[in-house]
Amino acid sequence: MGRKILFLGPPGAGKGTQATRVARALGIPHISTGAMLRDNVARGTELGMKADAIMKAGDLVPDTLVVAMVEDRLGQEDAACGYLLDGFPRNTSQAAALDAATGGEAIEIALLLEADEDELVDRLLKRAAEEGRSDDNEETIRNRQQVYRSETEPLITYYPENGVPVRTVDGLGTIDEVFARVVGALAEG
Ligand code: ADP
Repeated sequence: MGRKILFLGPPGAGKGTQATRVARALGIPHISTGAMLRDNVARGTELGMKADAIMKAGDLVPDTLVVAMVEDRLGQEDAACGYLLDGFPRNTSQAAALDAATGGEAIEIALLLEADEDELVDRLLKRAAEEGRSDDNEETIRNRQQVYRSETEPLITYYPENGVPVRTVDGLGTIDEVFARVVGALAEG
């Protein structure tokens, strides 16, 4: 039986990097709603056209759209034996919708990747220079941090209240150091 893992943490904490490695190590799909939405934008789908401006501003794409996209993805065959969710749920309504759709069985453990705010902004600005992601300018970065604090952080208490443990992992250090911590946290069960 595979594992059903959720990665939580502020923008810039390194979720995407670590999630990719963990999913590969465990042989489960890495389901990143940010990556799926960017793919829709790039392909010019109806969803992509609705999401584009919202993402550029660093705001959240409407729950109904994202929930439908994720439910569809979780229904695919490769997700039958576990997955790693990255970027979803991003607020308690999305979490409740996911719980309702799966009888509360969607997530077994949540990992919270932490880093201090200055480090986060530094990393995102560096990524902006390297990758040219359109939502990586300073104003949008600041808004994404704000949206994280108000919308996503409540999940850190939502999950334990709903029987899902949240383990905190220090996101500071090299990619290998953080990966070792992540693996350690997952091994605890
Ligand atoms: P980051 O972790 O750097 O914030 P993501 O790749 O996870 O980046 O997400 C990029 C953008 O995609 C978000 O700022 C938001 O606009 C949109 N997005 C991703 N996941 C969701 C979600 N679950 N609900 C609403 N919007 C989302």
